[in-house]
Amino acid sequence: MKVHITADMEGVAVVSHDDQVEIKNAEFGRIREIMTSEVEAAVEGARDAGATDILICDAHDTGRNLLVEKLDRDVEVIQGTPYDLGMMSGISRDFDACFQVGYHSMRHTHAGVLGHTYTYSIAELRLNGIAVGESGLSAAIAGHFGVPVVFVSGDAHAIRQARSLVKNIVGVPTKEGVGLYSVRTLTPDKACELIRRGAREALERLEDIEPLSLKKPIQMEVEFERPLMAEYVSHVPQVKRKDIKTVSFKASDMVEAFHVFEVMQRLASYAKSQGPL
Ligand SMILES: [Zn+2]
Repeated sequence: MKVHITADMEGVAVVSHDDQVEIKNAEFGRIREIMTSEVEAAVEGARDAGATDILICDAHDTGRNLLVEKLDRDVEVIQGTPYDLGMMSGISRDFDACFQVGYHSMRHTHAGVLGHTYTYSIAELRLNGIAVGESGLSAAIAGHFGVPVVFVSGDAHAIRQARSLVKNIVGVPTKEGVGLYSVRTLTPDKACELIRRGAREALERLEDIEPLSLKKPIQMEVEFERPLMAEYVSHVPQVKRKDIKTVSFKASDMVEAFHVFEVMQRLASYAKSQGPL
């Protein structure tokens, strides 16, 4: 059995602020240890259920977060950027299941800790009219390859949002947002114990969980935080301006949708650097 694991950082136990997940900052070393142990717990749970091949995508920021030397010696890890499929790099039809570890809610979620979708410039991303965060976007990319997302761990809002899209997904909350920058968290040891158990259970229930497969063509709408972002993005061929901060794009499939989304969020970051509009 082959398992793909996409691992983010904002949703792991303890994290409550962006400062903690930036490579240049003092606390990063501590948080990457916690992220690594949560991923290792997911790997152990997968092994308990009989997984033979495990590929991990280090999916936070620069892709240089996991302490690979501390992981199960037989896994493989994708690290660094750029990635072909972003947080889902490495996914293919060869996999039986996908896990999301350390995931967080979408932007503008009440008490959703550090909620965003790739960048804080994206106010909302909609696929065929459904608002998705990173969890939904990753699930839809896995679904393109016929792979179900069977397990998610992260903050409680991320779990709720994943459950609304994927029936029977096994979710393990590692913390609950109290405010946008505050959490009520489990200890890393407890989080890892629950993740290991949940990952095993998820693979045992593989039959009950369907891939998230979106109807094609895919109508993608992106609402940005600022008008200049939408203006720059609307110059990309076949992208249409819907209103002052929103654009739309009709994609033939999820891979095309993701590649255009990636161009959009990079252009939005450039727009942000140009001034406050
Ligand atoms: Zn993220």
